[in-house]
Amino acid sequence: MSKKIQTFEDVAGWQLCCGCGACAAVCPDKIEMIDVLEYGRRPRFRAGTDAEIPQGAMTVCPGIGLTRLVKPEGQLGDQHFFDAWGPVLGVWEGYAADPQIRFEGSSGGVATALALFGIECLGMHGALHIRSRKHKPYLNETVLSTNRDELLKGAGSRYAPASPCDSLELIERADRPCIFIGKPCDVAAVHTVAQLRSSLKDKVGFSLAFFCAGTPSTAGTMKMLQRMGIEDINSLKSLRYRGCGWPGNAVVEYSGQDGTNQQKKLTYEQSWGEILQKYRQWRCYICPDHIGEFADIAVADAWHRDVTSHQPGLSILIARSYRGLNIIQQAQRQGYLHLDIADPSLLGQCMPWQTSLKGHLWARIQSLKMMKTPVPEYQGFKLFDFWRSELSIKEKIYSFLSTIKRVFAKKLNRRHIMCSMQDILGLHTEQSIEKE
Ligand SMILES: Cc1cc2nc3c(=O)[nH]c(=O)nc-3n(C[C@H](O)[C@H](O)[C@H](O)COP(=O)(O)OP(=O)(O)OC[C@H]3O[C@@H](n4cnc5c(N)ncnc54)[C@H](O)[C@@H]3O)c2cc1C
Ligand code: SF4
Ligand code: SF4
Repeated sequence: MSKKIQTFEDVAGWQLCCGCGACAAVCPDKIEMIDVLEYGRRPRFRAGTDAEIPQGAMTVCPGIGLTRLVKPEGQLGDQHFFDAWGPVLGVWEGYAADPQIRFEGSSGGVATALALFGIECLGMHGALHIRSRKHKPYLNETVLSTNRDELLKGAGSRYAPASPCDSLELIERADRPCIFIGKPCDVAAVHTVAQLRSSLKDKVGFSLAFFCAGTPSTAGTMKMLQRMGIEDINSLKSLRYRGCGWPGNAVVEYSGQDGTNQQKKLTYEQSWGEILQKYRQWRCYICPDHIGEFADIAVADAWHRDVTSHQPGLSILIARSYRGLNIIQQAQRQGYLHLDIADPSLLGQCMPWQTSLKGHLWARIQSLKMMKTPVPEYQGFKLFDFWRSELSIKEKIYSFLSTIKRVFAKKLNRRHIMCSMQDILGLHTEQSIEKE
């Protein structure tokens, strides 16, 4: 661990935090998660506690580092395929058999359908996942959903900070195993915590991650609302980023000045493409796992299809463990999913930039090290091999130079202090202050 990174607050201060919330789960008496406008959900020491972290606790943090899983028995494809795509025991295209779940889901509703299958057919207690926060729909909250109605309230991707690991104790305290749904970094954190705590390991029935290009900060959501012409965020009744069609619109419901219910919409291209993706946290630019390698099951949008025709939602599913394989096959047999088995090469069509992304990552890490900026420790991801084989000479040079530029643009060479936004006034006045 770098000398500059001694606590979870340091991880956040150097912009290495992904906001998973695992630190708050392992040190609940000392750490709380706060919403920071320009960064995301971030850890902070609770008032009155000292900065002593229990020995070993920092090892759960995916912001500090990640060690890749070994190739499983039965892996599909060759070594190069494993290096690029991680554990793959089966690939399918499909969607939730329940039409409402398919409609409300982000792509095919398969994440929600699998969670429901776990609860209704495998006797699991519930699914820990996130949804729009009650009374503040521009933020998220973690919930343990135990039935179809509750699960549906969380359906649809939320392009906003969420820390599903902050409530892992709900899984540990449950009397039966639970499902965990999150981004790849959230699931990687759960995997690491479970190695340390058998009380969690025994209770994770299965984990599900979706492919993830990155989490935009709340400042991104604010920009989106501004584009929609909404000035008072307290007037919001609901905010969806996706779903209800594929890929679905960003839809906001709010009270107009005359008290009537109003609605504003932006297409996926306008909301994600033109606004939100520009607000992704820095950790997403140096993320080694956008594809849920640590999960039992990974899901993604079937982006290789022609989505502009507004066809019903369609997902890609990957079994990453034998437990995941078994669950997907059972869910299909019991009528929860409609699936077509797919050739693993489909993944390359769906996300053609996966291998060059890994190459760029190697150069980013080297540039940051040269500039004495703290970096995460990644093991087993073969990043240098991808840099050497997948990038042209021009791209290789660009991969270094663009990072050096970003160090200054994003002030990565300084530790930042995270300040919480408490209410709407705070939202507009509180800023994250840089420490010189
Ligand atoms: C920030 C973000 C980036 C993404 N990037 C990509 C990408 O690059 N490529 C791609 O193929 N797919 C991406 N997705 C995933 C994609 O949008 C779908 O979620 C995925 O295809 C699963 O769809 P579904 O219909 O099966 O999920 P649903 O049935 O709609 O279920 C979605 C589940 O995800 C949970 N969830 C939603 N938002 C978050 C969040 N921010 N953090 C943690 N959990 C959350 C919900 O609680 C729900 O349980 C991204 C999603 C998010 C949130
Ligand atoms: S990455 Fe996760 S565990 Fe690490 S500091 Fe951030 S919230 Fe905590
Ligand atoms: S891109 Fe990586 S670090 Fe960023 S939210 Fe997604 S999984 Fe986490």
